Amino acid sequence: IIQLYVPLNWFGTYYRAIQKNFVDMENMFDLMRVDSDVKDAAGAPELRVRGGAVEFKHVSFGYGPEKLILKNVSFKVAAGTTVALVGPSGAGKSTVMRLLFRFYDVNEGAVTVDGQDVRSVTQASLRANIGVVPQDTVLFNNSVRYNILYGRLDASTADVISAAKNADIHDRILTFPDAYDTQVGERGLRLSGGEKQRIAIARTILKDPAIVLLDEATSALDTNTERNIQAALARVCANRTTLIIAHRLSTIIHADEILVLSEGEIVERGNHDALLAQGGIYASMWQQQLENRGSPNDNNNGEGAT
Ligand code: ATP
Repeated sequence: IIQLYVPLNWFGTYYRAIQKNFVDMENMFDLMRVDSDVKDAAGAPELRVRGGAVEFKHVSFGYGPEKLILKNVSFKVAAGTTVALVGPSGAGKSTVMRLLFRFYDVNEGAVTVDGQDVRSVTQASLRANIGVVPQDTVLFNNSVRYNILYGRLDASTADVISAAKNADIHDRILTFPDAYDTQVGERGLRLSGGEKQRIAIARTILKDPAIVLLDEATSALDTNTERNIQAALARVCANRTTLIIAHRLSTIIHADEILVLSEGEIVERGNHDALLAQGGIYASMWQQQLENRGSPNDNNNGEGAT
């Protein structure tokens, strides 16, 4: 099914990138048929998804025996709601995502989807119900059409176009030399970060999963692109259970719950208003982002900077 004409070391690089940065897990699993540490239980049934409710129950996890990365983490994402993860680099945000995708198994506690332990169902059925919009999408060296179609290979052209429209990328695609047939990726047309992310959003809309994992881009995009992406993200998250790693707090003001992770522990939780009122870590992160905001062309001379 997969054609192995890509240099083999590319897989190694890709694999390491994913382990480190939660780049594009869906692609990687399919490309590599990766033989990871996790195995399906004998005779494991498929995940039966109702609304896609997610729960972490007293989860502890470490990549190795020497250090726990998540410590007794518990939270719920009710079906169709949005929970955001914030916190400093290295706090464990991506690790939470990887455990839900069952890239690794927990040391203690459990991760469940609609009440089913992710270790008890097939990995294929789990991943079929989770869409990932990574920070940095790696495109296939193939057409734009294929890159979107990958979300659901039996989708019709009309569905592909509709997904692209919903992701605000259709008009842009029409400006490419061969429109949907334009070759992209390393050996084709190079797309901007914002364009790649919108292709990933279109792919996820086409896949139509109950659960969406979103890793917000850290790099600043121009205001227009930002606005388009926010609108597209809002559409991909609507009516889906969403877990988002947020870097710009302005994007999660409406999240149902915000979890502040620090050194693998949830140190604050609540919605935006409650966390501001609490006057803790989240409130000071918010304050800091407000102060840093200033005019984009006035970075070196912002007023009131410390
Ligand atoms: P960032 O915002 O920088 O992406 P994060 O909050 O998502 O950070 P994680 O990527 O979850 O943090 O990493 C948490 C900790 O686990 C870090 O100390 C990191 O070095 C470590 N870690 C991540 N992946 C691995 C791995 N594959 N093997 C060993 N340690 C790892």
